[in-house]
Amino acid sequence: MVAQQTATRPLLSSSLWHCPSELAFVDACDLTNVVHFSAPSKSRPGDANISALDILTRATFCNCRASETGHRCWHQELVQAAWDGHPARILSARYSDDQLNTAGRKAAHLTAWARGRRFRVHPLDQLALVACRDEYRRRYRLTALVAVDVAEPIPAA
Ligand SMILES: [Zn+2]
Repeated sequence: MVAQQTATRPLLSSSLWHCPSELAFVDACDLTNVVHFSAPSKSRPGDANISALDILTRATFCNCRASETGHRCWHQELVQAAWDGHPARILSARYSDDQLNTAGRKAAHLTAWARGRRFRVHPLDQLALVACRDEYRRRYRLTALVAVDVAEPIPAA
């Protein structure tokens, strides 16, 4: 997958022919803070392209042919809009501060409880936690985290 920052760039003309509802929600991971969407591939019939959005950095990823060859794709340009239209995201945006706090803490507790007992974490708990976390960061205008390049030259021995 190739990462892109699309927030400040103008939309591709091909994005005008697509709609965020063409991207189907796949899952949300509370450990990586990434939400995944899929769309049928036109270049590889029967296959699906997976696009992802990191809610902390707003970086987008895609595994489609255009993205893998270094080009921009409509999947990455519309994945933020697809996430903004997800019912869990809309619900968290409508919570009061107290409701957001309660829902976020409950989801965090349930995911931690399941992991502590080595149970499978329920996908809806992960989704609720990611949605509340995203809303909290937006509501309190926390700036997007920027990935730090940790690749430093190794000193000679
Ligand atoms: Zn793509």
